[in-house]
Amino acid sequence: MQNKTFAIIKPDAIENNNLGKIIDVIIANKFTILNARLTTMNTRQAEGFYSIHKERPFFKDLIFFMCSGPCMVLELEKINAVNEWRTLIGSTDPKEADNGTIRKDFAESKERNSVHGSDSNENAEIEINYFFKNEI
Ligand code: ADP
Ligand code: MG
Repeated sequence: MQNKTFAIIKPDAIENNNLGKIIDVIIANKFTILNARLTTMNTRQAEGFYSIHKERPFFKDLIFFMCSGPCMVLELEKINAVNEWRTLIGSTDPKEADNGTIRKDFAESKERNSVHGSDSNENAEIEINYFFKNEI
């Protein structure tokens, strides 16, 4: 899947009233929102989504955080969407994120970092299907 990526506006961003501001950044950067929905993940959904990290020490906390409140899941389109979106969101840790990135402007910490972005075209397809194409 090319020119599409999957994004999440995470629970910290919604809790801090940054949902609208982050959508403005998405639109200002010329992404097309193909699909979007507010959802509160259950443990099974979050564990499935982040299964690649299940052996990591932060896994349990990450699942708890991702299920702690509503988030917005989005399917985004733009030429070279995966790389464009990863560049726009910035480094995982906001302390290391470049100026002008979403995580620099909105994230609280390495965990509560406001947004998710797929890291490859292959994972973009898997993640879009996970939230938009299948009953989960
Ligand atoms: P990214 O979201 O930048 O692709 P990762 O895939 O490495 O980062 O990690 C997934 C998510 O897990 C991160 O966005 C963050 O919310 C959380 N996370 C990653 N590393 C840590 C860490 N060392 N401590 C706590 N949470 C972390
Ligand atoms: Mg990742």
